[in-house]
Amino acid sequence: MEKQSVLINGERLKNTVEEFANFGRTENNGVTRLALSEMDIKVRNHFKDVCEELGMTVKWDDMGSMYATLEGVENDKPPVVVGSHLDSVEKGGRFDGVLGVLTGIEIVRTLVESNIKPQVPVVVANITNEEGARFEPSMMASGVMSGHFDKGQMLKSTDKNGITFEKALKVSGFEGSKENRLTEAEAFLELHVEQGPVLESESKDIGVVECVVGMCCYEIEVIGDSDHAGTTPMPMRKDALFATNNLINEIREKMSKLDSDLVYTIGRLNVSPNIHTVIPNKVVFTLEARHKEADIIRQVEEIIHGLTTSEGKEKCEVTATKLWDRDTVWFNDKLVNSLEESCTSLGYSYKCMPSGAGHDAQFIATYLPAAMIFVPSVNGKSHAEDELTYWEDCERGVNVVLQAVLDLTAN
Ligand SMILES: [Zn+2]
Repeated sequence: MEKQSVLINGERLKNTVEEFANFGRTENNGVTRLALSEMDIKVRNHFKDVCEELGMTVKWDDMGSMYATLEGVENDKPPVVVGSHLDSVEKGGRFDGVLGVLTGIEIVRTLVESNIKPQVPVVVANITNEEGARFEPSMMASGVMSGHFDKGQMLKSTDKNGITFEKALKVSGFEGSKENRLTEAEAFLELHVEQGPVLESESKDIGVVECVVGMCCYEIEVIGDSDHAGTTPMPMRKDALFATNNLINEIREKMSKLDSDLVYTIGRLNVSPNIHTVIPNKVVFTLEARHKEADIIRQVEEIIHGLTTSEGKEKCEVTATKLWDRDTVWFNDKLVNSLEESCTSLGYSYKCMPSGAGHDAQFIATYLPAAMIFVPSVNGKSHAEDELTYWEDCERGVNVVLQAVLDLTAN
């Protein structure tokens, strides 16, 4: 098969994205489709119908993740899998996750209409509860599949109404067998919206994702004394908020010198007692930092530990507790190269980049060859109703994955 001779149908892709967005479409043209909610169950059944119409066999595993298989010539060989997630956050967009699943459907449609029988099976996957918006944590099913999360614990996760994941899964009709889990694959390919502004600002068509960056997250506690705001002279105070202000400046100053790709965030800060006539005696704040190189994260942790003895803490007590961390996950070299080659052969501009956000492919990459591509997010927006990826960009992205699938399934 000549490489550039097969392309997907952009108009059909667009129609399919809109068709799937009808399951949970919001007033402002976003989507609310929480995992295993009524809308999610409906879209799962629709996904099943669409795949079966294409001659695929649809199965689901014990976490409800769905796999639609298009037969190949050699069906005992590991499949090439294309997938992502159909669930969304509350008032999310029409592209996050679902576009990666519909990439698979559009590719299968293209193969079927072009009478191309792949050498190995092609599987389109919908991985359950990527968002973690209804049942925490996010990437739940891929976490269980890859052995990072304990299934028993996950089943007990409850939504805000006290319904367990286990119950919701049973009621959905999508509790399948453990034997159906994804245990082998030639490749797992996930197309996703970038959810950031980099591709758009650099005018690149495609992001070829090299890794999902590692990170660490700390909670820092600053303890002072809560004396009267009017009667305590300034030199006699232990003001936890003034100390925190110094520490934050120190964090910015030191971390900005590490590496321009390092991102760090103080996302939560609580002041106690938070009364305008009382000197703050306690501040607790979080600090998370992300970078692909372990050495940079190590230096970040040194800076954080240095805060406990910093001059800037004035006379307060500072403690730093690690809440959690994760290592950088690198995607499969061969697949990353193959996606780059697809971009080149199609004449699309691309950028190799890390992902700052988590995705199912990162867990799957720990036990199967996996890779991802990003398509540009307008204004970098996602997890919002105005999330948008231009149709031409969706089309280009799916063509890149199609080329990779054709390469991987050629005899
Ligand atoms: Zn997503």
